[in-house]
Amino acid sequence: MVIDTKSAFKPVLELVIAAPRGFCAGVDRAIRIVELAIEKHGAPVYVRHEIVHNRYVVDALREKGAIFVEELDEVPDGAPVVFSAHGVPKSVPVEAQGRGLDYLDATCPLVSKVHRQAERLVAAGRHIVFIGHAGHPEVIGTFGQVPAGAMSLIETAADAELFMPADPANLAFLTQTTLSVDDTAAVVAVLQRRFPEMQPPRGEDICYATSNRQSAVKAIAAECDAMLVIGAPNSSNSVRLVEVAEREGVRARLLQRAADLDWSLLDGVRTLGLTAGASAPEILVREVIALLATRYEIVEREVETTRETVAFKLPRGLEAAA
Ligand code: SF4
Repeated sequence: MVIDTKSAFKPVLELVIAAPRGFCAGVDRAIRIVELAIEKHGAPVYVRHEIVHNRYVVDALREKGAIFVEELDEVPDGAPVVFSAHGVPKSVPVEAQGRGLDYLDATCPLVSKVHRQAERLVAAGRHIVFIGHAGHPEVIGTFGQVPAGAMSLIETAADAELFMPADPANLAFLTQTTLSVDDTAAVVAVLQRRFPEMQPPRGEDICYATSNRQSAVKAIAAECDAMLVIGAPNSSNSVRLVEVAEREGVRARLLQRAADLDWSLLDGVRTLGLTAGASAPEILVREVIALLATRYEIVEREVETTRETVAFKLPRGLEAAA
């Protein structure tokens, strides 16, 4: 009889994997748009800003022929260019048209929905209170849908307490799609107390993928001693997952790749939670599990809180290539 002494001495680690996790429909679509653009036009295809906030995804597309730039003036005349899933200010497609660039817009349809609401509210004469994180590309893109001064950024409940609008009776609010559901509710509660006539968005601006991933983390947090969230530090929805876990009383860490794992987090841990932000592919989840398996006997269990069936259409012109 052969005894596997190596595995016999590994401690057991129960791994509770949240579902849904990882790629959302908007990220799937954005990556597919870049891949199809490369198939259609040949390499290189330029992409303005990281198509989604994940280094692995960006590197994989770079290998296929994508060139990532921050501004359109880095795109040569005549080259095809894709705008990222986070959305862009209106000035960007206008500039692309002016230069005769062949552009494709990979803005997530749920971000575009917020853009159209912003336009409608401003046309109706409302001042918009926008709840979001300063400097995030989605926020820059949404502010770029309306004239300067038509929208005010609120980041926290403390900001909401201090906000002094010119016309308090004529406000509406919108939000970034990837916020913490609980933090946003707290900000909205302050705004609604101070400005009861403020108009809410049509439906929910925080997207289904963001809220589903946060709910899944909450569902497993109570049974976990620690939690790993796979995602990038500039991925808003991934950072929010760490905050949600910590708020549930679980020590949590964000990591981009298995190699970033700080083993000391696992000291004394018997049950580990695992999830991934909306821009992190499943292959990175499997990479982390494979690394954990080098030191632990893994007992893996998935907890699914909801099943996602959302899919978005590709832009016209690429549907045929798909
Ligand atoms: Fe769209 Fe939400 Fe995914 Fe962002 S996280 S790309 S808004 S589905």
